[in-house]
Amino acid sequence: MVPINNSIIKKIYKKIKEYPKIVIARHVGPDPDAIASTIALRDSIRLTFPTKEVYAVGLGVSKFKYYGILDKIDNEQLSDCLLIVLDVPNISRVDGIENLAYQEILKIDHHPAEDIKGLVDWTDESSCSTCQMIAELLLKTPLKLDTKIAGNLYLGIVSDSDRFLLPYTTNKTFAIVHDLIKASKIDFTSLYNYLYDRGINEVRFQGYIASNMQVTENGLGYLVIPSDIIKEYHVDLATPANLINNFNFIREVIVWTFITEDTKNNVYKVSIRSHGPIINETASKYNGGGHKYASGARLTGEEEIASFIKDLDQLCEEYKRASISNI
Ligand code: AMP
Repeated sequence: MVPINNSIIKKIYKKIKEYPKIVIARHVGPDPDAIASTIALRDSIRLTFPTKEVYAVGLGVSKFKYYGILDKIDNEQLSDCLLIVLDVPNISRVDGIENLAYQEILKIDHHPAEDIKGLVDWTDESSCSTCQMIAELLLKTPLKLDTKIAGNLYLGIVSDSDRFLLPYTTNKTFAIVHDLIKASKIDFTSLYNYLYDRGINEVRFQGYIASNMQVTENGLGYLVIPSDIIKEYHVDLATPANLINNFNFIREVIVWTFITEDTKNNVYKVSIRSHGPIINETASKYNGGGHKYASGARLTGEEEIASFIKDLDQLCEEYKRASISNI
């Protein structure tokens, strides 16, 4: 059993109970953790308090429709609501809350804190995912769980921890997953298809990345992916970020990054991962942020790309030097 801890969970439950109208939002360009946590919390509140108005907002992503349908609301009409922000620390990256007249913000997130300060704020960088935090909330309060809610939370945890592989996976993660499965009796092995099903084009695109990734002497793996290649392989702009964890455990690589051209928005979308050096400080220099070892950024053009690659390479060099001098 997950040990009963903090009053923050009680405070969150109290707030949810207090408000008749609740809007739940997450970051732009959502991943399974963001989508699953939002929909699971909405469905649990609806199940527990059927008379409340509860909405999960933000742009839908067709490949994530398994998790549930997002709500279309008129933000200007919905006054005095509680806004629950999940899986995002910066207000500029919250999707779907333009002109929303919310009364207060409640935040639940596993990213390092940034500008969003919830009046009730549960920020836990040690959690592998926001879904882990929502599962803990549901397991420790009267908020109800059903099989669909538990399945969504399970997939969010598995996805963001990369199958319990990334360093934020802890004994608490396993304890929560144990309790979640016990409480809901989900057939968890039957769910993996929803996360891992993919077309042969995506596998071929992964082959393209493997064949073309540059690796520097200092251990930086990088690839600039032009929009023509995205078109040629019939993948989308989110695909490089979805594949980046598959390039873990390459002996010669300490930090790796994919820089994808987005011609529509005239920007390069960047995903970065690291085995050792802390990368989110470099990411924040380039219109980005994220976790210590998993970050994202946005670049404007060739000059900035060159400077970004140089910064990451230097980070690798310093890390290698420090590792050698510690032997
Ligand atoms: P990704 O590589 O897109 O999976 O993102 C890795 C992590 O960095 C996630 O936690 C994202 O929320 C975060 N992230 C991605 N892009 C940005 C950005 N432009 N600004 C701040 N955080 C970001």
